[in-house]
Amino acid sequence: MKIKVTKVDPEQMKPKPEDESQLGFGKIFADYFFIVEYDREKGWHNASIEPLRPLSLDPAAMCLHYGQEIFEGMKAYRGKNGSIYLFRPEENINRMNRSAKRLCMAQIDNDLFMEGLKKLVLLEKDWIPRGAGTSLYIRPTMIATEPALGVHPSGQYIFYIIAGPVGAYYPEGFSPTKIYVSEKYVRAAQGGVGDCKAAGNYAASLYAGQEALEMGYTQVLWLDARERKYVEEVGTSNIFFVIGDDLITPPLSGSILPGVTRDSVIRLAKSWGVNVREERLSMDEILSSSADGTLKEAFASGTAAVVSPVGQIYYRGSEYIIGDGSTGPLTEKLYNEILQIQYGEKEDPFGWRVKIS
Ligand SMILES: *Cc1c(COP(=O)(O)O)cnc(C)c1O
Repeated sequence: MKIKVTKVDPEQMKPKPEDESQLGFGKIFADYFFIVEYDREKGWHNASIEPLRPLSLDPAAMCLHYGQEIFEGMKAYRGKNGSIYLFRPEENINRMNRSAKRLCMAQIDNDLFMEGLKKLVLLEKDWIPRGAGTSLYIRPTMIATEPALGVHPSGQYIFYIIAGPVGAYYPEGFSPTKIYVSEKYVRAAQGGVGDCKAAGNYAASLYAGQEALEMGYTQVLWLDARERKYVEEVGTSNIFFVIGDDLITPPLSGSILPGVTRDSVIRLAKSWGVNVREERLSMDEILSSSADGTLKEAFASGTAAVVSPVGQIYYRGSEYIIGDGSTGPLTEKLYNEILQIQYGEKEDPFGWRVKIS
């Protein structure tokens, strides 16, 4: 399908942020977006890259009522040599289509997604910041647009990709977070949509997140819905623990989002000879390993931060310090390695990096 490009009048272009240390996350959007429409008769049609604009939706559009809305999160990186890279983009495309299938939404053609993505990033090249650790965050999104109030899969969708510069996650170095174990609320149950990047999962997580913040913790450590015993994820990231010499993360049981970073961490650690265990890990085991000194490190993994060290866990009225409360050596090594692969500063043994310019 041909992607029609409508250029922004140079005079209408938004000013680029001058201070890259003030970028933050998800507040600034670049000049263009990619958009393509779907309906049952025509399939995907009208693919275009246009100046970013508000969408016009019927108030009965099904995404606004029954939550047929999925998204992805990925980044474009500017290397020191000026090259532009994506990181394992086909993983995001495949995951988006798995989410679409689970929510009875239209499958998007992989090639069309990739072409729209690359064209958009190249057009927005000047929006990719230069500072260490900064990047262009990319948000592919699909919403159901059929105006209808019966609960059934929508016959119409739009898929779009927006992008904007984001700052370095750790401008002043690592700062281990304090996390709060939620026993009252759960993020996802087996059989649900916790393994999809579906909008409703995030709405459902806000209340517990707020409770954690009020208690002075940055994220919620989610437990399994059935027994409230096994760790699942932290905030909107996957979770890893280093106990003894093993790196342990919960298996993809259906209620956990299969993170691209999670998979990259597992494969890198294995290539270094680390014993990686994708196994259920109970709070009891975490507490006993904390007590006997074998709980050395914990970190969250996700596209936004790569890895984010956890320094403390709050559970049933007590605080447990992980290791000595500072960033562990494996966490730091994984962080540096993945970042250097993403920015083209290191060999890419797994072929994860996609150079687009
Ligand atoms: C996006 C996300 C992750 C991390 O996935 P990445 O592909 O590594 O960015 C983990 N958990 C949840 C709930 C997420 O939404």
